[in-house]
Amino acid sequence: MDVFERVPDDLASRGAGIGTHEELLAVLARLGIAMDERLGIKVGERVCVDRDGNELYRRAWGHTMSAWANVYRPLKDRFPAPRYHFGKAFASLAREGGEIAARFDDGSEARADLLIGADGLRSAVRGQLFPGLEPAYAGYVAWRSIVEESALPAASRQWLRDNYWFVLPPGEMMLCYQVPAKAPGSAPGLRDWNYVWYRPVAPQTLRDLCTDAAGRHHGAAMPPPLIRPDVIASLKHDARSLLAPQIAQIVERSQPFFQAIFDVESPRLALGRVVLLGDAAFVARPHVGMGVTKAALDALCLAQSIAASRGGLDTALERYDRLRGEFGRRCVARARRLGSYIEARANPGRGWSAQQLDQRPERLLHEVAAALSDIPELALEI
Ligand SMILES: Cc1cc2nc3c(=O)[nH]c(=O)nc-3n(C[C@H](O)[C@H](O)[C@H](O)COP(=O)(O)OP(=O)(O)OC[C@H]3O[C@@H](n4cnc5c(N)ncnc54)[C@H](O)[C@@H]3O)c2cc1C
Repeated sequence: MDVFERVPDDLASRGAGIGTHEELLAVLARLGIAMDERLGIKVGERVCVDRDGNELYRRAWGHTMSAWANVYRPLKDRFPAPRYHFGKAFASLAREGGEIAARFDDGSEARADLLIGADGLRSAVRGQLFPGLEPAYAGYVAWRSIVEESALPAASRQWLRDNYWFVLPPGEMMLCYQVPAKAPGSAPGLRDWNYVWYRPVAPQTLRDLCTDAAGRHHGAAMPPPLIRPDVIASLKHDARSLLAPQIAQIVERSQPFFQAIFDVESPRLALGRVVLLGDAAFVARPHVGMGVTKAALDALCLAQSIAASRGGLDTALERYDRLRGEFGRRCVARARRLGSYIEARANPGRGWSAQQLDQRPERLLHEVAAALSDIPELALEI
């Protein structure tokens, strides 16, 4: 197997904090990767507070929080370096005889029995299989960042403890929790505060958000260094007026960046020896907190299907398509339900039901990033 990655340099410095699930840790453990204190930390209770820091709702929880790089780095370290090709952007595919030829934008080509498109939200492999299928903008963005714990005042650190915080301004959702420290060489046990703040942004306003100081427009994916200072100042201003002061301080001390939120549903995951996996296959809004787990389970299901079919690749791919297609569709639907009250703010005229607009902490603290084992509709065979 060979991996072809578009980015020319190591990816380990990228990404932000992520929540994990038991199922992801189990897949990593099969590969000999243990989520020790350097890679993942247990966070305490879920607590929802109002803008003054008064507690509204509390619930016991037991999350392991990690970071994208903490999953990526040990996986990459286990993969044979000569077979990992950087700076290779997939451009197109061709079916030739029994083989798939993948063509890259530098003019090179690779051939194999199977092409796995694991190229994320804007998958070029998906684009080849289903021309015209575009990610659907959900009407909101997630502002994110990480701040070293030591950058916060002692009183705030004491107040924040190791809880998983929710603040729910009308039509918004702010989550913040600790993750293992990101700075290279950080001692085990050191922590950063990670936040994800979902805010409604109408499509025309997203265009403004994605316009840099020189007036250049960047589609729906703004490179973080180009976000205009006035946009960041306005976010920090809103943090001071909408969030509990200790949580606003985290935003205040951060270098925020944002990601627009999308839904993607591929009609098929396997088509003529080409397979889609992870976000290339389905993008569920992050409220389910399981994009990385879903990608890992997709990979496990594909490997198990191939192993079980004893050489019958087409049978294996049919099994993969059926099982992971169903999981992906259910995951996208659940995430859409959880985010509908935020979407409704950017698109108020659509006749939303009371259930869709429900942003009670009692509901959200139970359902956001719930354990897979607590979600009957996702308890499917792999
Ligand atoms: C705000 C937010 C919060 C999130 N929180 C969580 C969370 O708490 N827990 C969780 O599990 N998930 C979370 N997710 C989702 C998670 O980040 C994704 O589901 C996950 O990264 C998908 O992994 P992937 O490998 O499929 O795609 P990606 O991580 O997008 O990786 C795709 C790779 O393909 C490469 N690539 C792209 N195009 C090409 C090309 N043409 N040729 C070659 N290479 C290419 C890219 O450079 C990249 O390395 C969150 C997402 C967002 C937006």
